[in-house]
Amino acid sequence: MIKPRDIDLLVQADVLYPMMSNEEIILNAEVAIINDQIVYAGPKLNNKSWNAKEIILGDGKAVMPGFVNCHSHAASLVFRSQSDDGAGGKALYSVAFRAEATITTEQWRDFARVGVLDMIKAGFTTINDIWYEPETLAEICVEAGLRAQIAYKVFDVCLEDLYLNHYNHSSKTADMRLKRGVDFVKKWGGAGNGLITGRIGPHATDTCSSELHQNAYIEAKKLKVGRHTHAAQSAGEVAYIRSKYGVGPVVYLQELGVLDQDLVLAHLTYADQADLKAAASEGVKYAHCSTIYPRRGVYPDIIEITKKGIQWGLATDWMMNDPFEAMRNALNAIRLKQGKHTAYTSTEALFGSTTNSAKVLGLEGSIGKVQEGFKADLIQIDINQPHLVPFYAEYASIAYYARASDVVTSIINGKIVMKDRVVIGIDETKALEAVAKHIPTLSDKMLKLGGAVHPGLCPCGF
Ligand SMILES: [Zn+2]
Repeated sequence: MIKPRDIDLLVQADVLYPMMSNEEIILNAEVAIINDQIVYAGPKLNNKSWNAKEIILGDGKAVMPGFVNCHSHAASLVFRSQSDDGAGGKALYSVAFRAEATITTEQWRDFARVGVLDMIKAGFTTINDIWYEPETLAEICVEAGLRAQIAYKVFDVCLEDLYLNHYNHSSKTADMRLKRGVDFVKKWGGAGNGLITGRIGPHATDTCSSELHQNAYIEAKKLKVGRHTHAAQSAGEVAYIRSKYGVGPVVYLQELGVLDQDLVLAHLTYADQADLKAAASEGVKYAHCSTIYPRRGVYPDIIEITKKGIQWGLATDWMMNDPFEAMRNALNAIRLKQGKHTAYTSTEALFGSTTNSAKVLGLEGSIGKVQEGFKADLIQIDINQPHLVPFYAEYASIAYYARASDVVTSIINGKIVMKDRVVIGIDETKALEAVAKHIPTLSDKMLKLGGAVHPGLCPCGF
């Protein structure tokens, strides 16, 4: 008789989406985990196969790899409803950028905690974040158990002056910020049993001088980490780069010698053919934030991006942390743009937000699939819901019908981080209260900057 194999965790499922290249979906399945690794994923074996320390049953559940968010700002939720309408540029520059300058470390910490909570509850198991206070985000990710690539937002202009079209690059600010970015990578890279990876984050093509872009490249190479930058995000950015350098923003980065396969570019919304050609020829990775683009009334040329062979994955950008919303917005927008219902399929959307996003982050060998030898990063979805039945176990069943609130279990690096929708490492009540506490000060700030605050809404009577 064969002795049962000792494992740490057995996760069962009525339906398993391993996200392998053969697109197979397995019914009545199970996933066996030892430490942080998947040691088996496939049809249920004989019940004497495993000696598991813990079992998560799979009745009425689908299991798939956790979603990978290849461009996020966990703490940016502070601007929810403040820069959505009119976000084509005005509110971003006049409200958000000016408000950011006055937000304290403690406030960013409180926002980041709720952002991380929101991401885990929505089904993300990995994020790629660039923002202020990366140290506090890393701390929270370690506490909560979320896998994260994190960069400090490095720039050398006064973001709060950009709404006046004032670009004053300061080399002192550049050195100071780049140093903090480098120190962050040195201190936090590998923390949390490998959950945290550092990146260097030159914020955007126009908010860093040429010298800063090049120095960021040099430092990232020394540290052997990737970089993360916003490119061709707004018409203003493109106009500034064109007026100064006579080329589009991606060609500009190519001429600086800083494009390579370790760089993740977010947006490419206003990228032209020459920009896309430059990105493709240097093997740059691309984060496609499908929820924010329709909201701003513009959409990147994703068909051309795909045709040129640029590796891209789905992302959320800021304020919205919902991978299901990201998939459906991409499905709707790409089909409308193409005028074809086959332009982007539900299967592509699910691969786009798991395995392809993992490729964007250089993690294709370890996450994004439920496969033997991969890291145990997976989620369980409750499929016994009025909006999901009858569940025919297709890719379409998840891509069109599942909701973030259906994610009931999250396992990251082999550890259960959410059970029955309770995120174990974060006290949800306290986290929400901490954010509510900041409403009076923030409302005042947003109002002064032309935000959309309704004074009567604050529970404190503000
Ligand atoms: Zn962004």
